[in-house]
Amino acid sequence: MLDADFFRRWMTAMAASVDREAERLTALDSAIGDADHGSNMQRGFVNVATALEQEAPGTPGVVLMLAAKQLISKVGGASGPLYGTLLRRTGKALGDAPEVSEEQLAQALREGVEAVRTLGGAAPGDKTMVDALLPAVDALGESFAAARTAAEEGAVATTPLQARKGRASYLGERSIGHQDPGATSSALLIAALAEAHGE
Ligand code: ADP
Ligand code: MG
Repeated sequence: MLDADFFRRWMTAMAASVDREAERLTALDSAIGDADHGSNMQRGFVNVATALEQEAPGTPGVVLMLAAKQLISKVGGASGPLYGTLLRRTGKALGDAPEVSEEQLAQALREGVEAVRTLGGAAPGDKTMVDALLPAVDALGESFAAARTAAEEGAVATTPLQARKGRASYLGERSIGHQDPGATSSALLIAALAEAHGE
């Protein structure tokens, strides 16, 4: 079973990861966006880590909803509300249980990804974070490590795609040949999940 401490470890592992990878995320966003994705994610997750330390929420659902609140209020870009929605909906789906099963997490995360799709209107193949998150959710039934691999492969597979949503879509065909920054940070989020699980 996965308790509040597991979810806290997930969020702090993600904060450390975006800190390490901020330059790479920004470089990807400078190719097909406005060069702020690394700093957006860094600012967002620094605030998530601080809020979790200060408030020490006691259930998985509250951990994720508190994280979501920080991302929505502290990140100006498209990614703040989208990641905020992902975590808020996932947290809401987990309810107020003190511990949740891996199956419950997989189902909740699926609802979270659906909420991202509803908010942003992105379909698979539109070269967005959805292209990493959706395969990850599908693979999570198998294992956390499988989800990490699926997310990484999904992010890499955005390279030959033309962006149809977000800032990168303004570039049209010129968005082809670059890996999507948001799909890349989503792969980090799933890798942090596997790391929190010891995989
Ligand atoms: P902004 O585009 O406002 O500068 P960021 O640079 O932080 O925000 O995030 C860009 C990422 O957000 C993109 O690489 C993409 O993965 C994701 N994104 C943008 N718009 C959408 C959308 N409508 N649906 C899903 N993801 C999106
Ligand atoms: Mg940007």
